[in-house]
Amino acid sequence: MKNIGFIGLGNMGKGMAINLSKNNYVINGFDLNSEVFNELKKYNINQMKNLKELTENSDLIITMLPDGKAVLKVWDEILTYAKSSQILIDCSTIDVKTSLTVQKNAQKINIDTLDAPVSGGVIGADEGTLTFMIGGNKETLNNVIDLFDIMGKKSIHCGTYGAGQSAKICNNMLLASTMIAVGESFELGKNLGLDLHKLFEVLSTSSGSCWAINTYCPVKGVGPKSPSDNNYSGGFSTALMHKDLGLAVDAINQTKSKNYFGLKTFSKYDNLVKTGKGHFDFSNVINE
Ligand code: NAD
Repeated sequence: MKNIGFIGLGNMGKGMAINLSKNNYVINGFDLNSEVFNELKKYNINQMKNLKELTENSDLIITMLPDGKAVLKVWDEILTYAKSSQILIDCSTIDVKTSLTVQKNAQKINIDTLDAPVSGGVIGADEGTLTFMIGGNKETLNNVIDLFDIMGKKSIHCGTYGAGQSAKICNNMLLASTMIAVGESFELGKNLGLDLHKLFEVLSTSSGSCWAINTYCPVKGVGPKSPSDNNYSGGFSTALMHKDLGLAVDAINQTKSKNYFGLKTFSKYDNLVKTGKGHFDFSNVINE
């Protein structure tokens, strides 16, 4: 399996495709924005004219697209050209319902599929250290595990089709909520007159420690370098986190899950997007 089709070569897809190409896979790329190829040509990534050309020349196809609408559109077209020996993997973060729909459509023509959304951001994509949350058949995963090992440091088989997307929604809802809680803890510490560097030292090594403190501290000048030190630019946008929280809210309603923080968290991010702050890194939520 040497010919990989890669669709969606934006912030995340670019690094993932480059890492595969550096490991001797032939990458056939397609993106609506042809400018992405200016940077990719030096990595031996072939620019395909259209999805037909890409599908006909690839053994396996990965999509890394903004949302469920884009995935539905692209997979519908791919399936008109695909053959039963091919494998389709969607790494985008999308709603479970669309993920199940596109995978079922593929399986009707005997094409193996996986949903494999990621965590780890643009740095993880560039450095090949993503975590993959995977839904689908374990045997299919075993057949393509080499690809996940190149693009990431950990691949977790979460269960059957759609389970990867379900796990991703739970993770991001938790992350978005903890980011707000971390901001509140530092706010209280500041108002109590604490030195915030000392507070960081305590929190990052005590029972309150979490990823949002230890590696992505949202307070400017405190902790390791993060988007807060760059005026909240770069990183993972508030708009994308808002999209993921919207998926979580839909899932909460569909499953009638008990939820308090997730819904409160969504309303905070919703406010930020509605007031034109969607382009800032999501850790900017502490300033809301
Ligand atoms: P992005 O907007 O940078 O890239 C998406 C790419 O898809 C763009 O280059 C766009 O031109 C292309 N595209 C859109 N519609 C297309 C179509 N119909 N056909 C072909 N190409 C099309 O987004 P991103 O940051 O790379 O995120 C991609 C996915 O990964 C999203 O689902 C996002 O939620 C998820 N994700 C992102 C991050 C992050 O830190 N950016 C982290 C984890 C997961």
